[in-house]
Amino acid sequence: MGTVEGHTYRFRVDYTDYARRIRSFASLADVSEYGQVLEGGREYPLFRLIVPGKRWLVLTSGFHGEEPAGPLTLAEHLPEVIAYAKARGVGLRIYPCINPSGFEDGTRYNRSDEKPNNDFLRYEVAPGEWRGELNGDPPFLRWALYDGGPKETRAVRTDLARFAPPDAALDIHQDNYLPGPATYAYTFGDKAAYRPLVAACAARVAVLRQRKVDENNVTDADGLIEFHDGSVTDWYMRLGVPWAATLETTTVTPLATCHAVNLIWIRGFVDLAAGVRPGEPP
Ligand SMILES: [Zn+2]
Repeated sequence: MGTVEGHTYRFRVDYTDYARRIRSFASLADVSEYGQVLEGGREYPLFRLIVPGKRWLVLTSGFHGEEPAGPLTLAEHLPEVIAYAKARGVGLRIYPCINPSGFEDGTRYNRSDEKPNNDFLRYEVAPGEWRGELNGDPPFLRWALYDGGPKETRAVRTDLARFAPPDAALDIHQDNYLPGPATYAYTFGDKAAYRPLVAACAARVAVLRQRKVDENNVTDADGLIEFHDGSVTDWYMRLGVPWAATLETTTVTPLATCHAVNLIWIRGFVDLAAGVRPGEPP
C-alpha cells in the first residue's frame, strides 16, 4: 500500500517476476526486448510479444504505473488471448508493460518522475503554434509524430513507428481518480461497433455514462469519449487505424473484474481487427 498524489494504490509488483512471466511465453509468441530503461540504477527490459497473423492488433498497456490491471491481464491471460486471435487469423503485437519502474513502484510516472503517456504527436493549430492535445475537434494545420518525451515513450513510439499501422489498436489503462468500481473508454471509429462490448462490461461493473471524468471530458450515453490527447490511440486514429481505443477501469475495481473487462475489449478488438463486428459470428 502507498499513496500517489493523495490516491491509494493497492498493488506492488516485482518487475523481475513480471519479466520472468513474460519470458515464459516464448513458446507461444516471439518475445523480444525493444529497449531497456535505466531507472534508479536498475536496468528494466522493455518487452514486445509478436504472434503473426494475416491482420494485426496492437495492444499496449502500463503507460501509467499505478494502473496495474492491464499489464497483469496480459501476463495472466495471454495464452487465451493468443488462442482467440489465432482462431481468427489476427496477429498480435503486444507491449504489456511500458513503464516498468512506475509499475514496480505503484506510481503514475516513472522513477525519474517523467510522464510516459501522450507525447506521440503534436498538432500545429496556427503557424508555429504546436499543441499536445486538442479540446474538441477544431481545425488544425497538420500533425507530426513527436520526437521528445520520456525515455519509455520514445522507446515504444520508435518501435511502434517501425511497423505499418495495424487493423486495430487497444491501449489498456485505469483511472486512479474516480471513486467506485467502474469502466469507460476513449474511442475513435464507429461507436456502434463498441456497444456490444459496453453491454458485456455493464453486466460486470458500472459503466460511467454521461459522467464528467476529468476537467476535459464527459462520457456519452455508452460511456465513450473522443479526445485528441496526443496518445498512442490518437496517433493511430490519425494514421487511419479504423478501430482505436483506450480502455479504463477505475483502480478500485476488483482485479478479477478488471481482467473480465479487459478481456471483453481485447476479444472485441481481435474481432474488429479480423473484420468482424463484436457479437456477430466470424
Ligand atoms: Zn492511464
